[in-house]
Amino acid sequence: MGPPGAGKGTQGELLEQHLDAVRYSTGDMLRDARRAGTDLGRLAQTYMDAGELVPDEVVIGVVGEALAALSPGASVILDGFPRTIPQAEGLALILEAAGQRLDAVVNLVVPEEELVGRLSSRRVCSECGTLASGESVPSGACAACGSDLVQRSDDQPDTVRRRLGVYLEETAPVLEWYADSPVDVLEIDGIGSVAEIQDRIRERLAA
Ligand SMILES: [Zn+2]
Repeated sequence: MGPPGAGKGTQGELLEQHLDAVRYSTGDMLRDARRAGTDLGRLAQTYMDAGELVPDEVVIGVVGEALAALSPGASVILDGFPRTIPQAEGLALILEAAGQRLDAVVNLVVPEEELVGRLSSRRVCSECGTLASGESVPSGACAACGSDLVQRSDDQPDTVRRRLGVYLEETAPVLEWYADSPVDVLEIDGIGSVAEIQDRIRERLAA
């Protein structure tokens, strides 16, 4: 778990390689279910087509199918899931029924002002969407196609603060729910280099 801009995707990818795990975000699982044309996938599609949030019970069903399709003993990293208490409860039931358990909840902690700084200095290519990096505020042209770099409206400071507020409001109860459960919540300091943060995560998971 971790707010937008905390580095969840980057750290998740590294951990995926390290653990030889399968990494799934809710979006990945919904996309797979839609492609496979399962009943739940089609149901999820109707909500997305209508521009509505997919209800928790549908998300839980899709996650259950995705996990059931994995080979026995596979390691799984759930990226950004669960986002609500009903999702956390649903996941607990799925795992219990499969005789599995969650090893840990990894929560990347980054102060709000740092996140606002990171996200509001992001620039993306106006044509191909490639994320520019390398400078505090990237300037010039897209490294991939040479088009202009722009700031996404989502990355403007006020919008970033609002997105973070929504995230914290949504996930604070989930973290509290886990804190009251037997599952360890590992609070990881998300400030530092990518490698430093990855080392912290691995150390805590191995402890
Ligand atoms: Zn480009």
